[in-house]
Amino acid sequence: MPRPPIRRYVEHLPHITHFKPAGVPLRDLQEVELTVDELEALRLKDLEGLEQEEAAERMGVARTTFRRVLVSARSKVTEALVHGKAIRIQGGPFVHIAGALCADCGEQIDTGHWRDLHTGSPVCPRCGSPRLEPVAPGPGRHRRRRGWQ
Ligand SMILES: [Zn+2]
Repeated sequence: MPRPPIRRYVEHLPHITHFKPAGVPLRDLQEVELTVDELEALRLKDLEGLEQEEAAERMGVARTTFRRVLVSARSKVTEALVHGKAIRIQGGPFVHIAGALCADCGEQIDTGHWRDLHTGSPVCPRCGSPRLEPVAPGPGRHRRRRGWQ
């Protein structure tokens, strides 16, 4: 029996998914493909400035996995910048989440608002519980997912 694909939590879906260098003829244009989970790793680590451990927790993956995704993402972006390649963002083993639901008090928490200021760990802002379950986005289909112990 095949193992199910490993899912990574992604809070941010990019609106712009294709970047092209200016002044390069289309026939000469090469492309690198950045996956959505790789972009999320860059965003959490390099834009939000999280430690790798926190970022890994936010994506629901082991730190070693996060590190691998991050290294791959940086390598692709650098390759595009150095060699003038286009970047297309698509695919990847990810699941988009809109926030989290507190398993103890039922509070619905928006993306980016569940981090404890002191420890950096995800906690419920209402009751302080660490038992948060990621919630899938979209009206009427709030599927709960396990993660974030
Ligand atoms: Zn709570």
